[in-house]
Amino acid sequence: MKISYEALSLILDSITEHIVVVNETGEIQYANKSWSKFGDNNACNIGADWIGVNYLDECDKAAAMGDEFGQKAGNGIRNVINKAQSLFYFEYPCHSPAEKRWFMMRVTPLQVAGKDYFVVSHQNITERKLAEEEVSNLARIDGLTNIPNRRAFNEFLRSEWQRCFRLKKPMCLALLDLDHFKLLNDTYGHQSGDECLVRVGALLKQFCNRPGDISARYGGEEFALIWGDTWLVQAQQLANKLLNKIANLNIANSQSPVENYLTASIGLAEMFPGNSSSESELISQADTMLYKAKDSGRNRVIC
Ligand code: GH3
Ligand code: MG
Ligand code: MG
Repeated sequence: MKISYEALSLILDSITEHIVVVNETGEIQYANKSWSKFGDNNACNIGADWIGVNYLDECDKAAAMGDEFGQKAGNGIRNVINKAQSLFYFEYPCHSPAEKRWFMMRVTPLQVAGKDYFVVSHQNITERKLAEEEVSNLARIDGLTNIPNRRAFNEFLRSEWQRCFRLKKPMCLALLDLDHFKLLNDTYGHQSGDECLVRVGALLKQFCNRPGDISARYGGEEFALIWGDTWLVQAQQLANKLLNKIANLNIANSQSPVENYLTASIGLAEMFPGNSSSESELISQADTMLYKAKDSGRNRVIC
């Protein structure tokens, strides 16, 4: 096969990667079909002809409108043009109203007849990103109860702490431990115990309705709830309601010295995140309260 200019052009038009070649000022010298088609499908105002459009200007315009990825793209292209970087690669989200999408951008230098040009290519990497997202979500979900695990809890606590710090709002943490759960396991078997944990986990979800809330399996038969931007009185009401709901599940625990059904103890703490305090203090306060709840007879909230 003799590779003519026409054949090369057809090859470039047949690939799914969107490609343009820009000169040292960022002016587009060549665009393949995928590039133009993508522009058409995404309501770019450029029209059919991309040749002569300054791509750096387009990035700057996006950046001026608050698009941080436009700014990163512009900086990356300039770095390759100025030879500060031999290659630029980055991945960015570009969600359309209908679907989640991610793209990668790669900028590589090119010399044609002694002149410097730069190939800018875009590729849709949504499939890979969605798979990565799924793996990352799985790593944050407890396998038994299907609610967030301790790792997810820790991450959420850190970000909610920061958010409440910025808002100057209080946040509450409840640590919940099922009472005499070992006796339940011993009486009805480990599998029944597992089923109880699943039911309690599902119940906890009903107590987290706002973006600043999370319920998680903290470990074994212990659960944790964060209520961001929430005062202690409100959290106290929620925690008491939660204990009632657990009692209403009416899960038998005939050998328990507390009641003949499954009960729980809750340690509750409230803090205003500040410069001189940390999330671990909130955990340790709630933990101390939980210990007190256990010590003073179980089946209660102590705050
Ligand atoms: P307390 O009221 O003091 O909390 O007593 P407890 O029996 O609940 O506490 P303890 O720490 O003595 O025992 C916890 C029990 O929880 C023992 C353990 O087998 C059980 N457990 C922890 N994780 C699981 C689980 O995934 N499935 C089941 N079925 N049981 C679990
Ligand atoms: Mg325990
Ligand atoms: Mg327990």
